[in-house]
Amino acid sequence: MSSSTNTGEQAPLLGDGPSLNSQDRAKRQTPAARVTIYGSLTLLFVVALILGIVFWEKLGGFVGNLPKDPEKAAKRLLDVAPIIDGHIDLPILARWAFRNNATAIDLEGDLYGHVDIPRLRKGQVGGFFWSVYVGCPDDEAAGEDYINATWRVRDTLEQIDIARELIRKYPQTFELSKTSNEIKSAIKLGKVASLLGVEGGHQLGNSLSVLRQYYELGVRYVTLTHTCHNAFADSCGYVPGIKPRWNGLSPLGKTLIEEMNRIGMLVDLSHTSDETARQALKLSKAPVIWSHSSSRAVHDHPRNVPDDVLALVGTEDNKTDAVVMVNFAPAFVADDGKADLEAVADHVEHIASITGKKHVGIGSDFDGIESVPKGLEDVSKYPALIAELYRRGWTRFELSGLTGRNLLRVMAGAERVAKDLQSVGTEPKYDIYTKRNDL
Ligand SMILES: [Zn+2]
Repeated sequence: MSSSTNTGEQAPLLGDGPSLNSQDRAKRQTPAARVTIYGSLTLLFVVALILGIVFWEKLGGFVGNLPKDPEKAAKRLLDVAPIIDGHIDLPILARWAFRNNATAIDLEGDLYGHVDIPRLRKGQVGGFFWSVYVGCPDDEAAGEDYINATWRVRDTLEQIDIARELIRKYPQTFELSKTSNEIKSAIKLGKVASLLGVEGGHQLGNSLSVLRQYYELGVRYVTLTHTCHNAFADSCGYVPGIKPRWNGLSPLGKTLIEEMNRIGMLVDLSHTSDETARQALKLSKAPVIWSHSSSRAVHDHPRNVPDDVLALVGTEDNKTDAVVMVNFAPAFVADDGKADLEAVADHVEHIASITGKKHVGIGSDFDGIESVPKGLEDVSKYPALIAELYRRGWTRFELSGLTGRNLLRVMAGAERVAKDLQSVGTEPKYDIYTKRNDL
């Protein structure tokens, strides 16, 4: 709110106001009226004091210190700063296990996998990105230059549809949210803010028009690549040493980022090659995310982010604001059989030690991973991670950044950039992929 608005609103209230006639004024001068006013004020003060004492425990989450017991502290913190997870694969489970039939899926029961409503509630989840992922076509199907028609755009539309249908099926629980403010409103209503994320440029059919239409359907991030290179950018693949195709972003990939900035679609750098990430960080005018990536220094895996890339993240002039949302996939967390809650906390702490605590978040990859770390078996277990970090000295402010506020800042930043670019008349991009000859 601007100060001029304040002045406008307050001015009439500061004066006597038109409704007070001379008789009213006379009344206000009497000792009896004065007693009533002071009496009421005292009563109000006493009532406020009593309420304050009675609800102090509850208020503690907002204004006081957290309890010493880590489990209680985590619960209290999550009451007011619930988890917003950057990447949950429930829609692909719906596709593979239920052929995308929302009627057949009972999220209020004990659903196969890592996610259902009772466990979301137990885990104190306030929101998550529903990944509308479909897999990479194999090299032969994609063809040289990724130019063959595949079914990836159809399949992505089907994943958007099943996500939206499941959100619609449980209106008491889920609310489709498209902006940082809508996330906050949904959380205030006690709902699970539900966002959509497309996991790979291969799902765009090489087309900026498709990008814009996904946005219209509610998608708010696009991961530049999945495990395959595509017309826009190089992937990190899954095993070390994958040969780059573009050495980072392709010419169309650079345009893609400009268009994503203009419309307010978050650039997601999970799955990209290090060079793609470096170039995207440099190019993007808006803050970016890693929706589900951990630290390579803690566990050496191509899917994790190396320290030299993390060092480019920040709010200083020569850096880019971002949030790195830590992935729980055991293969990315630790050596075989060693992935546990403590190891995931190590990833969070290491990333924070390079970027600052303002730049970490949680992107579990639940329902997209076959095994889980010990102690973080499903969405009901987030409080245990918060308790562990509290035990390690994280303050409630730092923890509430991790659970959601860092993501909200980045998202609001991207919304601002889009608004600014549109307000100066930045035109949509109509570039056509040069390998196409049909248009
Ligand atoms: Zn992924």
